[in-house]
Amino acid sequence: MPDPAAHLPFFYGSISRAEAEDHLKLAGMADGLFLLRQCLRSLGGYVLSLVHDLRFHHFPIERQLNGTYAIAGGKAHCGPAELCEFYSRDPDGLPCNLRKPCNRPSGLEPQPGVFDCLRDAMVRDYVRQTWKLEGEALEQAIISQAPQVEKLIATTAHERMPWYHSSLTREEAERKLYSGSQTDGKFLLRPRKEQGTYALSLIYGKTVYHYLVSQDKAGKYCIPEGTKFDTLWQLVEYLKLKADGLIYCLKEACPNTSASAEVAAPTLPAHPSTFTNTQRRTDTLNPDGYTPEPARPAPSEKPRPMPMDTSVYESPYSDPEELKDKKLFLKRENLLMADIELGCGNFGSVRQGVYRMRKKQIDVAIKVLKHSTEKADKDEMMREAQIMHQLDNPYIVRLIGVCQAEALMLVMEMAGGGPLHKFLVGKKEEIPVSNVAELLHQVSMGMRYLEEKNFVHRDLAARNVLLVNRHYAKISDFGLSKALGADDSYYTARSAGKWPLKWYAPECINFRKFSSRSDVWSYGVTMWEAFSYGQKPYKKMKGPEVMAFIEQGKRMECPPECPPEMYALMNDCWIYKWEDRPDFLAVEQRMRTYYYSLASKVEGSPECGKGAEAACA
Ligand code: ADP
Ligand code: MG
Repeated sequence: MPDPAAHLPFFYGSISRAEAEDHLKLAGMADGLFLLRQCLRSLGGYVLSLVHDLRFHHFPIERQLNGTYAIAGGKAHCGPAELCEFYSRDPDGLPCNLRKPCNRPSGLEPQPGVFDCLRDAMVRDYVRQTWKLEGEALEQAIISQAPQVEKLIATTAHERMPWYHSSLTREEAERKLYSGSQTDGKFLLRPRKEQGTYALSLIYGKTVYHYLVSQDKAGKYCIPEGTKFDTLWQLVEYLKLKADGLIYCLKEACPNTSASAEVAAPTLPAHPSTFTNTQRRTDTLNPDGYTPEPARPAPSEKPRPMPMDTSVYESPYSDPEELKDKKLFLKRENLLMADIELGCGNFGSVRQGVYRMRKKQIDVAIKVLKHSTEKADKDEMMREAQIMHQLDNPYIVRLIGVCQAEALMLVMEMAGGGPLHKFLVGKKEEIPVSNVAELLHQVSMGMRYLEEKNFVHRDLAARNVLLVNRHYAKISDFGLSKALGADDSYYTARSAGKWPLKWYAPECINFRKFSSRSDVWSYGVTMWEAFSYGQKPYKKMKGPEVMAFIEQGKRMECPPECPPEMYALMNDCWIYKWEDRPDFLAVEQRMRTYYYSLASKVEGSPECGKGAEAACA
């Protein structure tokens, strides 16, 4: 994820306060001279450094739970650029407004933070190792879950750091630090017996000091009376720049040789620390060690499920053993049908079942064609099967096969959480907007895949987005779908049928022309359904009224909970001329950017509806 401030010429990245002041000095110390830098304490935060009256002022900018940015006590802004723009117009509590950006000298790039350098490689490694994924499945997992994985890694990144010793007693730590060069500032970090607490052991003047690192109620880490941090590696990085109560700032890591040899961890870039303040706060210091505080349990934040944790993320045929048996027609004896109805439609009903494969049994949903149906319906169902059989993507319901026995049956992988609109009804309090954006992003990934494969869905709607769980959606119902010819960008229906008019673009209705761009229109309506938490689009209007409404240039209003960025995208999906509409490649990018911007912070917030997992398990 690129830093949202990366493009700003006055953004310096991860530099220390002293370095910031050096830059401002060099630039002349004029009133209102300012720069922006990464906050070393909070994930995703910044510091605004400003000159006034020949003095330096530093204002931390926190990233809030809803993804906005604010200086403590100030107004919230949607990004760091907007925030700076605001304060250039209005000081609003600052000593003066931002008048002159202190731009980076030419050739100087923003200083990457410790984690920035490692992040992409770590995410990839982590996903590959944890879920044993490769190829497309790996790429899709990274795109759809990067913020969650990053958060997970950020909170466990210390385990890969050379200074982290996962099992070391106090005595062993002292032995390690006293052996070899006893350079001031050599340090290590180790977990203590009390869950969620750690000890920072540091050598200075040939004496080892131990500091307690504990977590507050919100899960932030700190040394007694010290600054609080989201993660342990941030605490360490900060204490390398500033002693902050320690007898000396951290310098060289006392390496955990065994761990760094085993885990081929990417090596950390040297942090250019120019900070030399060795001011000592002996008042909080106890050379014999700390007085243990009562242990607080680590906040029990259950990691939320990711699509890759489920059995339907990869195709059941991703196992080469199973692939040997892959055929469109399935044997009836391998199919067990339960008396549970998952849903129904014109064609008949969808029942729950189990399909026996070579090595495993999988839960399936079986679309059973009514007995009385005509040959035309059978043909149609077979066409649906032919389409689905060619698709393999984590965000599309896969077809396992077809079974011709007591009835014609379509055997699909199971997405038991029900349709998206039903799930969202009445859940405004429980399901945050970030969760809705996450699901819609997955739908856009599935649609991008369809677009790449030259298929049109023709029935994209919230009712046809099925959930596996609260954080995992799949596109279903390919009953109207068509594969386009290699050179065709649209499909012309012979005649209008029973069509979902409220989801259809003008060219579908007027000229029966269907393309990925008309699917984009339907995606906009699906977005509207989701952000309105399951409301019916165009309220009581009938199909022809909706058509007239659209022809007059009108569009549905922004649902109350819908973020402006998402309403803007919806409106782009509803651009009248199909040539002017974005394609799914662009839609997915915009969904991704927006969802990433929300996801990294909100996921950790305690108010994320906890009961919802069960509601949709
Ligand atoms: P229709 O063509 O009638 O719209 P759908 O394919 O949309 O048929 O399926 C109708 C309902 O059956 C869905 O709304 C859902 O409740 C259930 N259903 C369909 N496919 C699945 C599946 N793969 N897993 C679980 N439930 C399903
Ligand atoms: Mg349907």
